[in-house]
Amino acid sequence: MTELKETEIQNALSAAIVATSNDAITSASLDGIVTSWNPAAQRIYGYSAEEMIGQPFSVLVPSGTAAEVANILEKIRKGQSIEHFETVRLRKDGSDVPVSMNISPIHDLTGAVIGASSITRDMTEQNRTEQKFRATVNSAPNAILIVDKTGVITFANPQTEKIFGYQRNEMLGQPIELLIPSRFHANHSGLRDGYLAHPHLRPMGPVEGAAELYGRRKDGHEFPADVSLSPIETTDKHASVVAIIRDATEQRKIVRRLHELNELRNGFVVTVAHDLRAPMNSISGFAHELINEWDATEDSKKIEYLQIIVRNTEHLAEFVEKVFQVARIEAGEFAYNIRPFDIRSLVQRALDESASTSDRLRFELTAPEVTAIVLGDEDRLWQVLTNLISNAVKFSPIEEPIVIGLSCIDDSVQISVMDRGIGIANGDMSTLFTKFGRVSTLGARKIPGSGLGLYICKTLVEAQGGQIWCESNPGRGSTFTFAIPVAR
Ligand code: ADP
Repeated sequence: MTELKETEIQNALSAAIVATSNDAITSASLDGIVTSWNPAAQRIYGYSAEEMIGQPFSVLVPSGTAAEVANILEKIRKGQSIEHFETVRLRKDGSDVPVSMNISPIHDLTGAVIGASSITRDMTEQNRTEQKFRATVNSAPNAILIVDKTGVITFANPQTEKIFGYQRNEMLGQPIELLIPSRFHANHSGLRDGYLAHPHLRPMGPVEGAAELYGRRKDGHEFPADVSLSPIETTDKHASVVAIIRDATEQRKIVRRLHELNELRNGFVVTVAHDLRAPMNSISGFAHELINEWDATEDSKKIEYLQIIVRNTEHLAEFVEKVFQVARIEAGEFAYNIRPFDIRSLVQRALDESASTSDRLRFELTAPEVTAIVLGDEDRLWQVLTNLISNAVKFSPIEEPIVIGLSCIDDSVQISVMDRGIGIANGDMSTLFTKFGRVSTLGARKIPGSGLGLYICKTLVEAQGGQIWCESNPGRGSTFTFAIPVAR
């Protein structure tokens, strides 16, 4: 009695499950005639139970796949089940429906196979999602790789080919180390095993001994890489890892540049503050002296103090102007007006201007037949030339001449400014053109300066495709030369 009741309950439960299942649950005899058909089967295929029961199952099978059905029946007859069988079936309206089927034999009480039951899932939605996922993976801007737990690449998206230079078939089945510089291999396999033991989503940190992660292309070229790892379980139940890899070359450059700019700014602030202090102290000191001791100070002294104040003010203005210029250069905001012009006009202007104040400047045309039409920014080059001349004036005795030379060598015009001054020690040459590159050669002579002039000159000349350099003999003088490309 109780047993009977339990069987009834079991049957009722089974019937309820079949009736409410989202999957089609159907059965057929061994000769392919449908024997049961649940509501989900009607939803998926469009046929009602009345329409299908007693009909051959083959109405659901698209033409051309008859062999598939024969195969299934063959297995069922042998008592075998078929799992996750992905195929296409026909709906009543003639359209295709992608399905995944689990088919099992039905046995009678003697154990003989008398038919087959199948649970069929409509894969339309899942396939759509998978297609979307595949499209996303294929069009992703990053390399996406799947690596199994032994470190073998089992999937690579098209971007992986671009980033690493390998064809997909050259990567699939290969160890992931194929894409990692060999010096990291030893550490990497240990880290990989460690990760697979405790997989979780995370960005990958650099391998020990390296500041950054690197990828290696097929051509051997290495690039900094950002890698993010995430564990997945594939359909075969094997743990794998999805690695998303981005070529971080540009980003690292930007980060490095930001870092440099930050350092630069800090250094700049300290140096600028320091360099402003001396002339400001001097201005303030002499101004106070004049205010406090006006009556007691002789007129000639007053003039002298005022001249010192004016000189220091001019020096401050010049310094601030250079600082501004450097800031604009560093920010990439410096515009150049490059066009052909006769560079001899620059030299002539320099000679004319100096003639009114001193007769120290001489002009020497090294090659008289020089065609001096260059391609450059006249105003910027004027700034370079006057800076070199003012340095020559500052760093050489008043009685010594300063010689400007002009020559044409290969495809450029060279202008040199030669003095017979204090010169520059060999050890100072490397810092000469750097920012705040004031050199130590000066000895007892303390000549004020920003240490920015030559740095600006170098930047201006190089931005115009030119070069600037210095040759010097300590104690005997220096020659600064810049070369600008000839206009074609
Ligand atoms: P500053 O404004 O200090 O002159 P520059 O960048 O123009 O800055 O020059 C950097 C340093 O190079 C100078 O402080 C000086 O020590 C050295 N220098 C530049 N030109 C000459 C020169 N003609 N003779 C000797 N030393 C020079």
